[in-house]
Amino acid sequence: MEALLQRPLLDEPIDLESLAGCINGRLIVTGDDEYEAARHVHQAAVDARPLAIVRAADARDVAFTVLFARDNELELAIRGGGHSAAGHGTVDGGLVLDLADMRGLHIDPDARVAWAQPGLTAIEFTEAAAAHGLATPFGDTGSVGIAGLTLGGGIGWLVRKHGLTIDALIGVEIVTADGRQLVANALEHADLFWAVRGGGGNFGVVTRFQYRLFPVAMVLGGAVLLPPTSDVLRGLVDVARAAPRELSTISFLVNAAPPLPFLAPEHHFKPAVIAMFVYDGDPEAGQAAIEPLRRLATPLGEMAMPMPYPAIYQFTAEGANPSASSMRSGFFAALDDEAIETILGEMAAAPGAGMDFTQIRVLGGAMADVSSEATAFAHRDANVMVTVHAAHGEDRATADAWINRYFGLLAPKTNGVYSNFLDDEGEGRVREAYPSATYQRLSHVKRRYDPSNLFRRNQNIRPR
Ligand SMILES: Cc1cc2nc3c(=O)[nH]c(=O)nc-3n(C[C@H](O)[C@H](O)[C@H](O)COP(=O)(O)OP(=O)(O)OC[C@H]3O[C@@H](n4cnc5c(N)ncnc54)[C@H](O)[C@@H]3O)c2cc1C
Repeated sequence: MEALLQRPLLDEPIDLESLAGCINGRLIVTGDDEYEAARHVHQAAVDARPLAIVRAADARDVAFTVLFARDNELELAIRGGGHSAAGHGTVDGGLVLDLADMRGLHIDPDARVAWAQPGLTAIEFTEAAAAHGLATPFGDTGSVGIAGLTLGGGIGWLVRKHGLTIDALIGVEIVTADGRQLVANALEHADLFWAVRGGGGNFGVVTRFQYRLFPVAMVLGGAVLLPPTSDVLRGLVDVARAAPRELSTISFLVNAAPPLPFLAPEHHFKPAVIAMFVYDGDPEAGQAAIEPLRRLATPLGEMAMPMPYPAIYQFTAEGANPSASSMRSGFFAALDDEAIETILGEMAAAPGAGMDFTQIRVLGGAMADVSSEATAFAHRDANVMVTVHAAHGEDRATADAWINRYFGLLAPKTNGVYSNFLDDEGEGRVREAYPSATYQRLSHVKRRYDPSNLFRRNQNIRPR
């Protein structure tokens, strides 16, 4: 350890063997059989070749790796589930700290508390908790890592009933840039605990999360497919906002509806609005809650059935496949007629051979119960989140030209963005993820825990 702490002379080669000798996990370098698979992340457009990948086994490995990167001036990428849209889980020429082998999970069903390591995915955690009739709210896709998702905020199927993932976070164990392992919660390092609830991976490497669990057993889940009209989009937002908070919806405007068994063949691969939902409560009350969705237009198809909560992830399993795409997102107070016409018009002009989509999430409910100062995720009053995905396909330039024009039309109507839905969009956009006072506070915490900005391969907050 002592050897690692000494800064090598600049012309001295980086002694990866000394790192390999210190850790309980594995070090993967160029030429190893595993290297090709290990260097890739979910964002297939990022083709980085790291100097080495550390598959950490424990918090001690994390501390060694952090100090090794610091002392060798290596750019450090932290990888949980590898789903960052910007591909921040890998890095050209630097060191990747991959936490995928740290998947320990301890659930105390009586206390309704879980301790979880950062290599777990949302589906792994959710299935284990469901065995006790419990859940912590994560996102819409099972393969996403709990680590990155939590640190950005976490907006998913239970957002209106139970709030963001960070609203269920009790504390973390975190290795900071100086290699110390700290506990951060409401009582200890409270500034750090505030910052990690929305400020992303800027402050250290979380080695354990402590979450609250809620009783969640059977839910009414499924989708209502509707024709893609302005009345439907307008009505969708109104209905979802007025719904009881047990109902959370995530809707997709697509150009090619998948050939779902409950969709008549004439609608396969045609434009549609797929209004997916989870109603966490009595299934009959859930049927009543989605009835206004059905009345927006004659549904093209529908599936609504009681299911164990983790089953909803089967419907979004395709999102687990790595893909090359660009993304633009923003929060809205409301979708006015002009925004709706932009969405419909631009989707009709999408170049992506049916692979592009616009996602509309209606928020509110428990997410808005928490004060905007309580956590670094501060856009608590956002009612709607619109996210555009452009598949790169054969031609990234065309995809990016479309998404930039499309989002350029929507951008003036947005009020902030979710940091976890940022692509590689530059510092100005990172600042939009936080109101100015929140950003200032984050950058003070950053200076305290990471003054040299070691943790910068992320949606980066500059140390003040
Ligand atoms: C298909 C898909 C669906 C999604 N759906 C949702 C959704 O419904 N709701 C939602 O809120 N988000 C969603 N996201 C966004 C997702 O939350 C972010 O991409 C998140 O960063 C992914 O976390 P990860 O651990 O998988 O990613 P990684 O790429 O591994 O990590 C992303 C960043 O998080 C930081 N990080 C990761 N682990 C740690 C750690 N242990 N300590 C410190 N920093 C760490 C690092 O800065 C890293 O660059 C989705 C993403 C995808 C690709």
